Amino acid sequence: MADVIDGKKVAEDVVGKVKALTAALAGTKPGLAVVIVGEDPASQVYVASKSRTAKECGFHSVQHTLKAETSEAELLGIIADLNADSAIHGILVQLPLPDHIDAGKVIQAIAPEKDVDGFHFINVGKLGAGELETAFVPCTPAGSMLLIERVRGKDLSGLNAVVVGRSNIVGKPMANLLLAANCTVTIAHSRTKDLPALARTADILVAAVGRPEMVKGDWVKPGATVIDVGINRIAAPEKGEGKTRLVGDVAYAEAAAVAGAITPVPGGVGPMTIAMLMANTVISAYLAAGLDRPS
Ligand code: NDP
Repeated sequence: MADVIDGKKVAEDVVGKVKALTAALAGTKPGLAVVIVGEDPASQVYVASKSRTAKECGFHSVQHTLKAETSEAELLGIIADLNADSAIHGILVQLPLPDHIDAGKVIQAIAPEKDVDGFHFINVGKLGAGELETAFVPCTPAGSMLLIERVRGKDLSGLNAVVVGRSNIVGKPMANLLLAANCTVTIAHSRTKDLPALARTADILVAAVGRPEMVKGDWVKPGATVIDVGINRIAAPEKGEGKTRLVGDVAYAEAAAVAGAITPVPGGVGPMTIAMLMANTVISAYLAAGLDRPS
């Protein structure tokens, strides 16, 4: 049976480090502004959790909760104010935004040095160019990398990595991080031919698809490290009528019987995302204070 990679524990370690860095930052507090537009219940849960963790870290935490009918111009005005506010070091706009707002325009309006989600083209470009020392890296892939490092160490030279999914938020940045760590990387997507055979070549297999339990046990190379980014809510009639449960993109029990190490869902990649957001914000605060970037 595979070792279970405890994302909750690693996330707690990251948050502990962020707290220590915050306490050591004399005269200023890292400031994180979270902006949410509309009443999407899942987004509200995520935002509440981000604001709560920010407070726990000792941050100056600001939340802007805006009505669904907020105009794009109003939202851009708030971003401009936050860009100019020296007490704010990280700005996060919770996605998705309502249809009448151009999310791309809003993300690109965030000052790159406060873009703790790592979605601004400046940060995307730095990651693509391997400039990891100055980039803000998107939180979910950055957290997934930390989990991989716990199992495999920092230098992944020569290992074959397959990333299933090519989104800008997870798949592409994940592939760039694995490349920077010297893996041979293949990105798979909905048009990939014979995905099971490709997946079986992976020493590191990352699933970021959004399809419940798509990656089967016989897709996994014996001993592989399997990172399941997917979070899918499915019906769980065994728990009672109308009940649901969370599953990943990997058929966990089958894959765990073959893999060397695997992340569970929940409790794997999920907790890492918020922890890495805190890490990016404290880095931003150190840089704004003219200090070296903490590692
Ligand atoms: P997207 O929907 O943006 O991307 C999904 C990717 O999967 C696409 O590239 C798509 O290919 C590919 N895909 C879809 N179907 C198949 C298939 N049958 N075979 C191969 N590839 C396929 O999703 P995200 O990247 O945003 O998220 C992926 C998952 O990760 C979701 O479950 C999401 O909930 C979860 N997630 C978890 C986070 C966390 O904190 N743990 C944070 C962010 C996301 P194509 O491009 O060809 O359409």
